[in-house]
Amino acid sequence: MSAKGRKVVVIGAGSVGTAYIYALLPSGLASSIVLIDKDDKRAQGESLDLAHCLPFIPPVEIKAGNYKDCADADLIVVTAGAKQKTGQSRLELIQSNADVVKQICAEIGKVKTDAVLVMVTNPVDALTRIAMDYLGWPAPHIIGSGTVLDSARFRYLLSKHCDVDAHNIHAYIIGEHGDSEVAAWSMTHIAGLPVRNYCRICNDCNYEENLERIAMAVKDSAYHIIDYKGSTYYGIGMSLLRISQAVLRNERSVLTVSTLLSGEYDISDVCLSVPCVVGRSGVEKIVKAQLPTSEQSALQKSAAVIKQTLEKIHSWMVCG
Ligand code: NAD
Repeated sequence: MSAKGRKVVVIGAGSVGTAYIYALLPSGLASSIVLIDKDDKRAQGESLDLAHCLPFIPPVEIKAGNYKDCADADLIVVTAGAKQKTGQSRLELIQSNADVVKQICAEIGKVKTDAVLVMVTNPVDALTRIAMDYLGWPAPHIIGSGTVLDSARFRYLLSKHCDVDAHNIHAYIIGEHGDSEVAAWSMTHIAGLPVRNYCRICNDCNYEENLERIAMAVKDSAYHIIDYKGSTYYGIGMSLLRISQAVLRNERSVLTVSTLLSGEYDISDVCLSVPCVVGRSGVEKIVKAQLPTSEQSALQKSAAVIKQTLEKIHSWMVCG
């Protein structure tokens, strides 16, 4: 990838796709951004509107395009498909969005590309796996945005509760991006200290109770936002910028993206989030942590939930 060769193709010109581009534009990270949507007028309108940011940001080409643009793309970000309605779980989107992802992969599969693909459409873990099956690319080149957003929400809520800058909090949500996700307390550090050690020093609250409440609040974040305003997009937009930086700058950043596990954490054949080193080729390394029994078994339950979803899709495909 040349210095100027940072081409990003975004498929899905809805709230998430455009919030991501709006975060990407001022970063100067991309040299070229192409927006694709089945509703071409929407893609045209959004790209024109976004192009009017150009006098205020580093130079970048932005336009509506088509799947041929994937050929020389460095990053393809898939945000197309149905979103949750109030009270609906992400898993309930699977049937319609599996069809959307299959259509999109069929189009991308027609061009030869070295791009890394980031799946965002929900349920993201199952759809990351479906994209792998359809495209047949090396697994590390296809990543799901996974729990990067949930981990950000976790750090935000811990930071509010502990009154400490979120940058000084290392914390990961692992497993499904959904109801079975797991707060990895064993990997949570504040000011470099394991969280419970920090709590003992701080001694400001009944931390056992509060930690549990914070993990629940992370899980329920999207439901609350969807209830208030219909959908979530700014947090995921910024999470996608973070993943893009890691890939396009080959940063080798540790992020909880959704990736195919093959025996790591005693889990196989399913995409879910664990801390991964992310760089130019996508997932460069899966960080294999030794989890305590409670977190390990919660992670395995989460993997089982995603596997059940995939089995449902396979049975629909066989029947239909
Ligand atoms: P939206 O309704 O605003 O936009 C969806 C866009 O997808 C529309 O413009 C639509 O025309 C387009 N589209 C649908 N089918 C298509 C196809 N076959 N080809 C091309 N374009 C197609 O929805 P949104 O709020 O932007 O959400 C998009 C997806 O992102 C949803 O599935 C949502 O659940 C998901 N999401 C994921 C996360 C995450 O953390 N992974 C966070 C928020 C939202």
